[in-house]
Amino acid sequence: MNILIINSGSSSIKYQLWRYPERKLLVKGLVERIGLDNAVITHKSDPVYRHEIKINDHIHGIRIILEALTDPEHGVLGSLSEIHAAGHRVVHGGEQFTDSVLITPDVLDTIDNMSSLAPLHNPPNAAGIRAVMQNMPSIPNIAVFDTAFHQSMPQEAFLYAIPIKYYKEDMIRKYGFHGTSYRYLTKKTADILGNKPEDVNGVFCHLGNGSSICAVKNGKSVETTMGFTPLAGLVMGTRSGDIDPGVLFHMIRSGIVSNTSDLDTLLNKKSGLLSIYEKSSDMRDIEDNLTTDENAKLAFRMFTHRIRLYISAYLSLTGPDSTIVFSGGIGENSPLVRDAVLCDLQHMGIKINKALNEKLPRGQWGTISDADSKVKVLVIPTDEESQIAEDTYNIVAEL
Ligand code: ADP
Repeated sequence: MNILIINSGSSSIKYQLWRYPERKLLVKGLVERIGLDNAVITHKSDPVYRHEIKINDHIHGIRIILEALTDPEHGVLGSLSEIHAAGHRVVHGGEQFTDSVLITPDVLDTIDNMSSLAPLHNPPNAAGIRAVMQNMPSIPNIAVFDTAFHQSMPQEAFLYAIPIKYYKEDMIRKYGFHGTSYRYLTKKTADILGNKPEDVNGVFCHLGNGSSICAVKNGKSVETTMGFTPLAGLVMGTRSGDIDPGVLFHMIRSGIVSNTSDLDTLLNKKSGLLSIYEKSSDMRDIEDNLTTDENAKLAFRMFTHRIRLYISAYLSLTGPDSTIVFSGGIGENSPLVRDAVLCDLQHMGIKINKALNEKLPRGQWGTISDADSKVKVLVIPTDEESQIAEDTYNIVAEL
């Protein structure tokens, strides 16, 4: 079975083609700048095929992807009939979806309805689904939700301490994101430890441009740092993370910002690492300038300080046999961040091994704690797309 994986954003579509049950990635690529005259498809065949073309909308974008997949020169398929199913990343599933599902008209309606909670993400996700349906009407489509894994959080974790009617009537609560990554990492941790996923306890750190942490108890999410939106929690590339809401009232009342839209842009696009270092939101740039630039140093310290706080807090939920897992672009690739986050925590049973931490080969999982560290510390490259492919295969195989 060949499975097309689609991760559709407002102006881009990332795609992968997987063959099952071999679990083989055949090819991947992305379409960028949808809606502009100079849109481009980068199809990562060997050699890479890059083509600039005007792409009007997502339906057009998917058609260009399907043409690349079946192209006689750089394609990997003879015809479209060799694609048997599609798996779609969907950011928000609200409380309706606790697992991945076959997309029916009702499911698509619900994804549309969730757009009020994720206005930047669900509309392009739904556009990607409709585009695949239009281009390949006969194949099953599966939705895999970023929020689903966190639906196991207890009420005391997901409710905000505001009048309960806002939860009951307006769906205002903590949802959490990066759930597909955490589900993948939980299973991978179980494999590594020789456990069942339902026996995994740990604090999982997905650190990238968008960063979050998840407390996993008995294989299930019990807390996470992102909230009603992906703005809460850690200091991120351009997002503030946690901030006293009183600051926002003050900024509006005193005219520091003129409206909520400006405030939204300020907190989502102009804050985080970018706002402190000022020259870039990229952790590599910050690390390159740590010794010479005070702002880079401060941004780094603020980033790692908040992660330390959350890890310590979440260990109180996950218990004595916890594992700490680092993942995401920063978590997988930055020994400096991992060291700053976990150094001098012997009193909490955490002993990071500096040599293992520094020498861990890129792209591979590894242990970075001492053999006598009570809390084991792992680095595991995440793979959300393979999890989407796995879910799609499992659901379609049962149809
Ligand atoms: P996204 O949230 O967009 O998926 P990624 O998980 O790709 O983000 O992570 C991007 C971040 O990873 C960037 O801040 C980048 O600087 C950081 N990163 C990538 N490689 C390294 C590295 N070798 N050292 C430090 N940071 C890195």
